[in-house]
Amino acid sequence: MSEEIKTNAAPAAAPAAAARPERPARPFAKKRFESRRKVCKVCAEKIENVDYKNFQFVKSFTMESGKILSRRITGTCAKHQRQITKAIKRDRNLAILPYSLPKK
Ligand SMILES: [Zn+2]
Repeated sequence: MSEEIKTNAAPAAAPAAAARPERPARPFAKKRFESRRKVCKVCAEKIENVDYKNFQFVKSFTMESGKILSRRITGTCAKHQRQITKAIKRDRNLAILPYSLPKK
């Protein structure tokens, strides 16, 4: 019995789906988001080792509040992210970069 019901139900569902007008396949999907490959800034500039003395460059990996930006956001590779965090922490200790800044 159950098999009969299943076979009867399947054809009944098909016409209902066909009757529905086809929706346009997300017209704004492409415009809304375009995935772009993130490139490691350190690799791109061909810097072998991140130096804490190059604080202008190192500073670009921190937020305005002084936090270190994650790899997910900046797109740096694991090796260079490690060097950057080390450099930032050195700069903080030397009072070149702030540990934190108050919110405005
Ligand atoms: Zn890199």
